[in-house]
Amino acid sequence: MAQKSISETQREQMFPVLDPSGIEKLKRFGELQRYPSGELVARAGKPNAGLILVLSGHLCVTPPGTPDAPIAVIGSGGFQGELMQLSGLSSLVDCRAEDDVEAVLIPPKSLRTLMIEEAELGELIMRALILRHAGLLEQNVGGPIIVGRAGDRDVLRLENFLRRNGHPYQSLDLETDSSAKTLIEHFNIQPPDLPTVLCPDGQILRNPTENQLARHIGLTRVMDASTVYDVAIIGAGPAGLAAAVYGTTEGLSVVVLDCHAFGGQAGASARIENYLGFPMGISGIELMERAYTQAQKFGAEMAISEEVEKLVQEDEFVLHLKSGSTVRARAVVIACGAEYRRLDISNIGPFEGSSVHYWASPVEARLCTDQEVALVGAGNSAGQAAVYLASQVRKVWMIVRGNGLAATMSRYLCDRIAAQPNIQILTRTEVSGLEGISGSLKTIRLKNRDSGEETEHPLRHLFLLIGAEPNTNWLAQSGIEVDAKGFVHAEALQDGDRHPFETNRAGIFAIGDVRAGSVKRVSAAVGEGAQVVAALHSFFAQNRPTGNPAKIPGSVQA
Ligand SMILES: Cc1cc2nc3c(=O)[nH]c(=O)nc-3n(C[C@H](O)[C@H](O)[C@H](O)COP(=O)(O)OP(=O)(O)OC[C@H]3O[C@@H](n4cnc5c(N)ncnc54)[C@H](O)[C@@H]3O)c2cc1C
Repeated sequence: MAQKSISETQREQMFPVLDPSGIEKLKRFGELQRYPSGELVARAGKPNAGLILVLSGHLCVTPPGTPDAPIAVIGSGGFQGELMQLSGLSSLVDCRAEDDVEAVLIPPKSLRTLMIEEAELGELIMRALILRHAGLLEQNVGGPIIVGRAGDRDVLRLENFLRRNGHPYQSLDLETDSSAKTLIEHFNIQPPDLPTVLCPDGQILRNPTENQLARHIGLTRVMDASTVYDVAIIGAGPAGLAAAVYGTTEGLSVVVLDCHAFGGQAGASARIENYLGFPMGISGIELMERAYTQAQKFGAEMAISEEVEKLVQEDEFVLHLKSGSTVRARAVVIACGAEYRRLDISNIGPFEGSSVHYWASPVEARLCTDQEVALVGAGNSAGQAAVYLASQVRKVWMIVRGNGLAATMSRYLCDRIAAQPNIQILTRTEVSGLEGISGSLKTIRLKNRDSGEETEHPLRHLFLLIGAEPNTNWLAQSGIEVDAKGFVHAEALQDGDRHPFETNRAGIFAIGDVRAGSVKRVSAAVGEGAQVVAALHSFFAQNRPTGNPAKIPGSVQA
């Protein structure tokens, strides 16, 4: 039986109708508007004016450029709006007045106030906006169309970017789709211009960067260089999003910048099983999507696809972005995380999360019960994982590039490994290939680094413990102290004059995986995101700007 869509199963929650008391409550957050019959009140790809509560008449919501295929007709007591509305970003749909409409227009800022002051109505609206977004994603409505060759690197780059940011899109394969060919001919698109992206507003982008695409489809907007935020957070992983939620709820104006997508490494995790409160586990992207929406609900400004390249100090801190824009803030939180080192094997992606693992917990061990596994690495983390796995699986093949473990691993771990009969070390060896189907590994190819000889091994799980690299190259000229591996020095506790999490430069804080000595886990990153807000308040209390005392954010709540 065909699975029912969200709009079929949750239609009532998607398009609720408010009773008269609900309408009265909402009225105080907006202004009365009249839309004559036929007026386009929202246009796909263009910024939204706000949530529209219909008092009389009807609004018709359609996919972009498809007026004859209504998604919904909204009458008295209903409201038009999407999740992107929370931050005033672009609409994914068109919306037209079917007849003369009297309505209340609630702009994004007032909508966020409404969510907080009218909790019950706020919940009803938030649920509707989330379901509508999920419905549009499910039906692929409202996003751009990527035209190129399936499997092409740049097609995958753009698809991956849109998917990770929860934005609908469609792809047309030039080789097989006749409409794609017509489009290419019609617009005289040359091979270097591929992939070409057709945006909902009709514009064509030729092999755009993620930032160009994001700006064009309204996923992010051009940064306003004149605004001075209380805090600029670099990185929208769990640490950055937590700091944004706790910062905004405690009265700070916050901007969060991320060069790729919200969610960070956690967003790439197929299933997080060790995060408090989710006994069944939760997919990383789902957990992070909730955090992202929550931060926006409280008013955090999100700048996705904006890469920070440089940090300088003028009257305030100034972040220089790769896109050419600048962002100003009175304090900076570095939450730009780390990247687990990956093997340089082109087809590794589909196996990650299912057959290729970056640590060994009981979850992974369960997957490998009674099997032989491969583990790459020769440091202490690799040693600990090998010893643990040896107690859970039939055999561990340790793949070591060098001559042995002694030079890179603590003695006690070397001894323990030597005492395990089911750990076999292959020195001077590296992984040279992976084979399998549908994300499931079947064979690992190993190469002897001296003889060049390759052998195939029927192993279904590969553990990579070859370290993580902090994303801190961009800090090179900033004067911020990092350790030998590039992780930022910042203590979790008050250290002399320094606030908790403050770096050697006053007003610049570091949290999460990028901080030297932090526990590299989602829960630890979230905890540091919450804690740093108290430290920010202490910093602001000591550094009141002269002549503008009103700018000081609210005090820390007890
Ligand atoms: C595949 C995988 C699975 C995992 N599973 C688990 C698990 O099950 N349980 C668990 O507890 N932990 C897990 N982890 C670890 C966990 O995800 C991390 O500890 C956590 O995400 C760290 O959060 P963070 O916010 O400090 O940094 P990150 O998650 O690394 O986020 C940093 C963000 O900063 C952005 N950024 C970097 N440089 C810049 C720049 N110059 N400008 C703008 N933005 C920038 C990045 O794009 C990224 O989005 C997993 C990690 C991976 C890779």
